Amino acid sequence: DSPRISVLGLGAMGRALAETFVKGGYSTTVWNRSSGKDAELIALGAQSPGALAAALTAGEVIVACLLDHASVHETLDPVVESLRGRILVNLTSTRPDQARELAEWAGRHDIEYLDGGIMATPHLIGGPAAAIYYSGSRRAFDEYRPVLETLGGAEYFGADAGNAAAVDFALLAAMYTMFAGVLHGAAVVRSVGMSAEDFGQRAANFLSAMTFSLPTVGKRVDSGDYSDPEQDLYFTKSAVDAIVATSRAAGVDLDIIGAVRDLIDRQIASGHGREGWERIFESLRP
Ligand code: NDP
Repeated sequence: DSPRISVLGLGAMGRALAETFVKGGYSTTVWNRSSGKDAELIALGAQSPGALAAALTAGEVIVACLLDHASVHETLDPVVESLRGRILVNLTSTRPDQARELAEWAGRHDIEYLDGGIMATPHLIGGPAAAIYYSGSRRAFDEYRPVLETLGGAEYFGADAGNAAAVDFALLAAMYTMFAGVLHGAAVVRSVGMSAEDFGQRAANFLSAMTFSLPTVGKRVDSGDYSDPEQDLYFTKSAVDAIVATSRAAGVDLDIIGAVRDLIDRQIASGHGREGWERIFESLRP
């Protein structure tokens, strides 16, 4: 018998999760704070009892996808007794410390806790491009893995419930910084009359071709040995200085590329100019 699932929160993401469970053949109960977001799911076969406590008792696995950490407590604190003995899979985006706090809270109430970070947008849920990172109860991850894999790839990052969020936010840090860099480039090419859309297409092609090297970059960082570089810091500095000058001449703000230049300059000032450019990691890490 496949486990019964309750999905709390029918925002864009919660609806995608619930729909995927229903279509995957799971008996699915849904709940949302405000009414009216369950119509399509009911039409597909989901149950929607209205009362939160009823939605909780209907499920063996409770999947929460609310706005933030505060909304999880606001929703679940008053009904915590109905969660006792159940599995809580919290897919609400929370910081690592907040995930740990929820894990402790769950432990005090005899609730088995898995924290998840969704590395996908709603329309990708259930497809091959969706990945969700989990940490917390290993037992729950192993036992309910088929349920979790209904939503997309499921990867486990350890018993510390904050781990998945740390990896999630690290990837988002990489994404936002890269996207901001693309907007910097779009600002530069405006000076030669290229549209940001046109530049975005070129950036997508170029960056896709370049990112293959990221694991190799990471391997060098892990080894801590930056000698014998493919590109040393002096070489990288000459390129980045030219990029900074080109940006300045185009009247583009230097906040983003200037930060990269500063990292390079700090390593060179410490006497590492002949070592690999990846050494800027040493300026970043705690
Ligand atoms: P939406 O804004 O579409 O939905 C938010 C949901 O949270 C609604 O169901 C809302 O209920 C509910 N909610 C907000 N505050 C409270 C509260 N105090 N008590 C109870 N329920 C509350 O957001 P998404 O569905 O897109 O996102 C949900 C979570 O998923 C977020 O943590 C988000 O970071 C995460 N996520 C989303 C991604 C995306 O691409 N959308 C990607 C990865 C993660 P109501 O309808 O009553 O307002």
